[in-house]
Order: sequence, then C-alpha cells, then structure tokens
Amino acid sequence: MKGYLKFNRGELLNKAKEDVEFDVLIIGGGATGLGIAIDSATRGYKTLLLEQLDFAKGTSSRSTKLVHGGVRYLAQANISLVREALKERGLLEKNAPHLVQNKTFLIPNYTWWEGPYYTLGLKTYDFLAGNLSLGASKHVSKKETIRKLKSIKKDKLKGSVSYQDGQFDDSRLAVNMAQTAIEQGATLLNYFKVGNLTKDDDQKVKGVEATDMETQEKYSFKSKVVINATGVFTDDILQMDKPGAKKRIQPSQGVHLVFDRSFLPGKDAMMIPKTSDGRVLFAVPWHDKVIVGTTDVQVDNHDVEPLAKEEEVDFILETFNRFIKKKVSRDDVKSIYAGLRPLVAPEDENGSTKEISRGHKIFVSDSGVISVTGGKWTTYRKIAEDSVDKLISIGKLPNKKCATQDLPIHGSVETHNVDDHLYVYGSDKPKLQELIDKDPDLGEKIHPKLDYLKVEVLWAARNEMARTVEDVLARRVRVLFLDAKSSIEMAPEVAKIMAKELNKDDEWQKQQIAEFTALAKGYLIDN
Ligand SMILES: Cc1cc2nc3c(=O)[nH]c(=O)nc-3n(C[C@H](O)[C@H](O)[C@H](O)COP(=O)(O)OP(=O)(O)OC[C@H]3O[C@@H](n4cnc5c(N)ncnc54)[C@H](O)[C@@H]3O)c2cc1C
Repeated sequence: MKGYLKFNRGELLNKAKEDVEFDVLIIGGGATGLGIAIDSATRGYKTLLLEQLDFAKGTSSRSTKLVHGGVRYLAQANISLVREALKERGLLEKNAPHLVQNKTFLIPNYTWWEGPYYTLGLKTYDFLAGNLSLGASKHVSKKETIRKLKSIKKDKLKGSVSYQDGQFDDSRLAVNMAQTAIEQGATLLNYFKVGNLTKDDDQKVKGVEATDMETQEKYSFKSKVVINATGVFTDDILQMDKPGAKKRIQPSQGVHLVFDRSFLPGKDAMMIPKTSDGRVLFAVPWHDKVIVGTTDVQVDNHDVEPLAKEEEVDFILETFNRFIKKKVSRDDVKSIYAGLRPLVAPEDENGSTKEISRGHKIFVSDSGVISVTGGKWTTYRKIAEDSVDKLISIGKLPNKKCATQDLPIHGSVETHNVDDHLYVYGSDKPKLQELIDKDPDLGEKIHPKLDYLKVEVLWAARNEMARTVEDVLARRVRVLFLDAKSSIEMAPEVAKIMAKELNKDDEWQKQQIAEFTALAKGYLIDN
C-alpha cells in the first residue's frame, strides 16, 4: 500500500490542488475509469480521476450483476471475447471474493434437442475457462429442475442444463475499487464535472477544467495524458475536444425489473436463452430479491437517469410469465431500473458504420485524448491494462508493467458467510462491528422490514465518500434498486445520520429527502 490517504473528499481535494501536473487524468468514475485508475496508480504513475456525480452513478450500477464470459457471445461464435471474459471472471473471483459469488444458472429445456444442444455449448464454455472454471456444466433431470427452480412451469418441461457463472454487487465493487486506487496512491474525486479540455499551442491536450459540483468552484488540472472513460457520455467529451466531431457511441438501453424472491425461490438463477425476439433473459436471485432482465433497445439520447419504455416492461413481464407458475404483474415490481450500454460503432475504410461491437475499444484523437469505451464490467481489469499499455506504446508514458492480475481489491477476504447481512463489507466488517460495540444504537435497523443498519449509513459517509442520501441508498446499500418504496421511507433517517456526520443543517436534510424522493419515484412502476 502506497501513501494511503483516507477515502475522504476534503483530504483528496487538498491533495489534488497541491499537485502541479499529473501523469494520467481520467474523466469518469465507472468500471472503466476506476479500473484504469487502479492500473495506472499501481504502475506508479501520478493519477487523478474526476467523476461528475457519484462513483458508478452511470451504467456501472445498473448491470445484470453477472461476472460472466457471456454465454450468448458463445452462440455468436465470438470465442476470443468469451475466453478473455472467462479469464477475467476467474481473476475477479480471486481478487474480490467478498463481492463475487459462484452461482448456478439453469437453462430450462422444453424440446428433446435443447438438452444435448446446450450441454454441448456449455461444455465449450467450461473448456474455455480452463483452470479458472467455476464448476462443470451438466444435464439436470426434470425432477431435479423442479426441485431447484420451485416456481417453474412443469408443463412440457423436459429438464434443464446447469452451468456456473459469477454474480456480484456492481456499485459496491466500484466503491471498493475507488478505495483500492487511493490505497495505491491515486487521487479520486466524486462530484467533479469536467467542462472543458485545455490544450497547448500545438493543440495537444494538456489537462482539463472542472467544476466542484458541491461548491461550484472552478479548477484547472494539468496532466500528461487525459483519458475519456465516460461511457455513453464519450461523444460529449469528444465534442469538447473537437466541436462537430463524428459520433462514435450508439447507446443501447437495458431494463431490469426486481421482484420478491417468492417468484423464484431457492438459490439458483434461470437463464432463458431465446426469448420471442431472440434475446437472452436472466432471472437471478440478488440479495433478498430477484432481478429479471434485460432488454437491449437502441436509443438516440443518453441521460444519467434513463427511463424504461413501456414495451420493455411488457416484454419482461410477458417473457418471465411464460416460465413461472405464479403470475407476475406490474403491481409486483419492487423496483425498475434502466442502464445504457456504451456500444461503439466502428467505421470501415469508407467511414460507414459496421456492425456494432460488444468488445472494448480504445481510440486516440488528434489532440491526444484517449477514449476507452464498450466492453463489460467483468473485463474492466483487462480494459484498463490494454488502455495503459496503449499509452505506453504511443510514447505517452514510460514503460512499466501491469501489476493488477494478483492485486486484491479493498475488502477482499478469504471466507465469508453470505447469510450475514454485513458480508459485503469483507475485511471492513469488524470495523463496522466496533462502531456498533461503542454505540449500540448504530446496530438498530433503519427500516423495520429490511436488514440495513444505521451503522452502514455512518460508514458510507465516513469511509466510502457518500455525499448524498442517494449515494447511500442507491450505491453503498442497494435499497433503491431492490425496493424503491422502502428506500423512500428510509430517506429521513439516512439524512439525519449523514447530516450529523457531515456537519449539515436541517435545510440540507429537507432538500436531500425531497431530491431523493423525487428520484426514487422513477424506480417505481406506474400502474
Ligand atoms: C443493462 C445492462 C446490463 C449489463 N450487465 C452486465 C453484466 O451483468 N455483467 C457485465 O460484465 N457487464 C454488464 N454490462 C456492461 C457494464 O455495465 C458496462 O460495460 C460498464 O458498466 C461500463 O462502465 P463505464 O465506466 O464505461 O461507463 P459508466 O459506468 O457509465 O461510467 C461513466 C462515468 O462517466 C461520468 N462522466 C460523464 N461525463 C463526465 C464529465 N464531463 N466529467 C466527469 N465525469 C463524467 C458519468 O457520470 C459516469 O459515472 C451491462 C450493461 C447494461 C447497460
């Protein structure tokens, strides 16, 4: 651990102000930017990351929560993409075991040929994982399938094929990655929006102008390299770089619905490999609920709070209902969330758009800005390694080797019990327990129906750079994504605990509650 500063915004801002020039400045604090910050800092480059809102506020908190090779890319014979992701899946399970779980997925079969067909495909998946396999796939009898997926429709069911993949908590991993980057010597700031790029006389980028969104104060930071890791906002930064630049990103929206676990009891997940329109749909137990999704619809605009389309909701309800006995309806939706995939439309020699790529892309603009986009959460480490290697190969940074393959992520702990509510804190868990021992009130629940404790709010504000009620309820604990109505009921108590810790007044509390309530209503479904 190098020069460890606390994960404290005030201290980190002071450090950022002191540094005359950084080696690497990253715009965007999602999976891509955070991964690059870790990679860059561990190689010893002086690194600054600026995130306009909260870490993982964008796409990186809105995933299906799978650490996977991508079974569907196998069906498209995209072997290298799957092999790379399976390797990264294994590394992530090793380096962040407190947040990644090995999960069994069952593909139900309704015709005689589906069993052998999927068994064969999944044997290839196992083979590609090599010694980082999470367990062998196998054929499962009808009786056993019904025992494992208690809510599945039995009519015409022949059996299923099971395979193993990873599941994780995306925004908690993002927070732990931010902590890891800081422990490695990087400086990271949330609520810092980049508004412009600064250039030298040769029109080469030499830094950024950014605004502290809490105080509206303006800052200018110098850096040898500027990386654009802004996901679906990539084109906005490219416009700052060169007004009128051609659009590179084609956002694709994915929606998830969250239901009570009674709709899919048990530990195992269900994978529907071919929906009526040829997509893949997952129903995955996550924390105490089940997530069902996702859709994949091209959209023309991008927003930090994308909204689900009616047809996406209907599609998920209709598809899930075809497979389960107990019918779900709009009334059963506990939360609905949408996320945008930053897909890249590469160009052929004639400048026309070819088929959209699912892999990551790194491109360098004339001014020297490096944009990194596409790919998956699962492959964030490899995306970061490739990005920094690219900077070295074009002579922007001195050659130093990547050192993240065996780097534990903050919180990493060998064994944990997922039935213990505080397991997500990993190696930090005893510190939360110490706080409760000193002040037993912190061990009280915030909401009588849910397991979240007051200490988690204090911990998030003190040690995880949570600045708003939304940061706590959406991304430090995941209530907004799991049960939007209850999250609204929790907001006043969360605001109270945060106000005490962050030294804020009653007016701040009132405003926070109002802002969070307005936002959380977007996660409730209209009936
Ligand atoms: C519906 C859906 C499901 C998915 N499921 C999975 C899955 O199960 N497993 C998996 O491996 N992958 C999954 N993915 C893919 C994965 O989530 C993304 O590849 C990944 O999160 C992209 O991260 P990112 O950092 O590139 O983008 P983002 O997370 O969007 O981060 C970009 C950040 O840049 C910030 N920013 C923008 N402009 C500025 C500015 N001017 N100044 C400062 N900051 C700025 C934004 O606020 C944002 O936080 C899924 C994607 C979607 C859409």
